Amino acid sequence: YAKDQGRNNYQYYTTTLSTKTPELLNLEKSLRCALERGEFTVYYQPQVNIATGQITGMEALLRWQHPEMGLVAPNTFIPLAEETGLIIPIGEWVLRTACIQNRAWQQAGLPPIIIAVNLSPKQFRQPKLAEIVAKILQETGLEPQFLELEITETTAIEDLEFTRTVLLDLEKMGVHLAIDDFGTGHSSLSRLQLLPLHNLKIDRSFIKELTTDVKVAHIVTAIVSLARTLGLKLTAEGVEKQEELDFLKSIHCEDMQGYLFHKPLSADKATETLQSQRFKSV
Ligand code: C2E
Ligand code: MG
Ligand code: MG
Ligand code: MG
Repeated sequence: YAKDQGRNNYQYYTTTLSTKTPELLNLEKSLRCALERGEFTVYYQPQVNIATGQITGMEALLRWQHPEMGLVAPNTFIPLAEETGLIIPIGEWVLRTACIQNRAWQQAGLPPIIIAVNLSPKQFRQPKLAEIVAKILQETGLEPQFLELEITETTAIEDLEFTRTVLLDLEKMGVHLAIDDFGTGHSSLSRLQLLPLHNLKIDRSFIKELTTDVKVAHIVTAIVSLARTLGLKLTAEGVEKQEELDFLKSIHCEDMQGYLFHKPLSADKATETLQSQRFKSV
């Protein structure tokens, strides 16, 4: 799965191929108990539309509070969860938690938003994914159009026919589908166009170089216009600077997620943020 995890995890991959360090084995051991010990929480990062100034969605991002190590970053433990298969129960827990939260926001009378949940490669390839998603929606009472599932571009293109079958099942249910980290998988939009997608999330690495590398600016401009032609929403991930925002605005990219607007927030802080936005618009 190292390929699916992106280039940052190469080091980890080589480690697992040989022998694991005692630290890693320890981490794996505690990861096995983390769910039942209640050590996970979900943070929520707002997605904003700059044309309306409104929050249109929140991305659910998993956090692990380790009893001794403190907060462990997802880029450290998600690959481990993926490799051990623990990502299946953990991912299901995230999905359920996120759906319950979005339903709670709706029931509190807040303006409806989409909750976006990441699916790892192994989760995406589990045989009964659509059934599990349907069950969780039914149990939590969240309507499918308020859930968006994210898979990375690399996961999507690994077996395009398989991806298409699974996404069509989810699409039939009414769930929204997004390609995450778009631009890092070196696919072409003409291939992705075969998939029933709603949203392309352009990878943070492009946004980072947007204002310093004119080639990257051209690529992003082309992606934005192609997405528009295909009728897809395009979300810019990792917007940190005013200059990045200005450039994106100038090419009519309106949907963004990044520290410039909000960092990932605890459930309480996310609720407050949604509430203050409602009072602003009243
Ligand atoms: P991702 O899905 O691409 O999520 C976006 C990541 O970028 C998040 O990191 C977010 O905090 C970070 N980010 C957003 N805006 C900015 C910005 O302006 N600047 C910077 N420097 N970073 C920004 P996070 O929460 O550490 O998650 C990292 C990755 O771990 C995620 O990337 C996703 O691939 C994975 N992940 C997180 N939660 C889950 C989960 O519940 N399930 C699965 N399968 N994977 C998850
Ligand atoms: Mg994501
Ligand atoms: Mg991403
Ligand atoms: Mg990522």
